[in-house]
Amino acid sequence: MIDETFTIAALTDLVKINSVNPGLDKTGRGEEEIGLYIDRLLKSFGIESELTLLAPKRVNVTGRIKGTGKGKSLLLNAHMDTVGVEGMSEPFSGSIKDGKLYGRGAYDMKGSIAAMLGMAKSIQDNNIELSGDVILTFVADEEYESIGTREMVKYHKADAAIVTEPTDLDICIGHRGFGIYEITSRGRIAHGGRHQEGIDANTKMGLLLVELDKLAQQLPDEKSHPLCGQASLHVPLIQGGQSLFIYSGECTIHVERRTLPGEIEMNVLEELQTIIDKLTEQDKNFHATIKPLLWRAPYEISKSTPIVITVHESAAGVLNYQPAYIGHSWWEDSAIIGKAGIDTVIIGPKGGGIHQETEWVAIDSVVQLSKILLEAAIKYCK
Ligand SMILES: [Zn+2]
Repeated sequence: MIDETFTIAALTDLVKINSVNPGLDKTGRGEEEIGLYIDRLLKSFGIESELTLLAPKRVNVTGRIKGTGKGKSLLLNAHMDTVGVEGMSEPFSGSIKDGKLYGRGAYDMKGSIAAMLGMAKSIQDNNIELSGDVILTFVADEEYESIGTREMVKYHKADAAIVTEPTDLDICIGHRGFGIYEITSRGRIAHGGRHQEGIDANTKMGLLLVELDKLAQQLPDEKSHPLCGQASLHVPLIQGGQSLFIYSGECTIHVERRTLPGEIEMNVLEELQTIIDKLTEQDKNFHATIKPLLWRAPYEISKSTPIVITVHESAAGVLNYQPAYIGHSWWEDSAIIGKAGIDTVIIGPKGGGIHQETEWVAIDSVVQLSKILLEAAIKYCK
């Protein structure tokens, strides 16, 4: 029932359009062109579609296939932006070899967009009557600040959602979150020859780094989740001091803490604050403050939720095997949709090279995903 020729052609077109996130790379074109392409296609199928401008070059597209009755509504979500293309020889070629389609975003997640479009076209082509609405949301900026999904959930409600991030056709029912923290140690600026006066903010930060390293070693042992792996911590950025021959007055680090389902914002902050408090007590010259910069909650949904059951059954029917339940170690927009009160499950195509120099998607799996989404909509929105 899926128009495979159309779906593969759409995938090729989507990969050829530069939709690099300008928040990550200033030369990125954003989602305007790809959004117009999707909007045009949806309208050509006879589906009501709306383009929302979020910022210059940044758009969301929302299509709605109206149900005929009062059945349950299903929201599908894919992000249109990609990470940058540095180091890639042909990021926008969409070339096909051995059943793989290559290019930036092929796997993450233009294959998923093509599958959603193929599914939508099939509903229209075959006059499939659903009782509930199917809402197709194509959003901006998942790779950076998620302005797209954060805006989308303000206006669109549904009984359940499927986020089509890549899962190799397994059923993803949870993912880690993260917190970003800025910690600044303060010393006392002095001439490098006057140790009685100077307090070195950099070496004081070193005390904290030792403790953070201990925590980083402990976390994976102490906190683990059957599907999402382990909690972790690292310090991606450090900056301190102003010049040779001057005691450093300030040293700043950024801490990246990856969290597991069940971990809450207050406790994660407290864990870091406790270390700072302990050092402050131990060393009268240790002064540091912590500032939470960003919190992206982890996400988890039960296997027994109706949408998870529906998607699992639909996938098993299309694939002829029982797909595994998995968790992702990275964060996704599903957390935002879940927090908006919409039960959300994740399923996407097979492929490789996510955020790497050679990215590809298995074309077969895009068609299979399209069939799974169609089956799921028929079952769920009946
Ligand atoms: Zn993605």
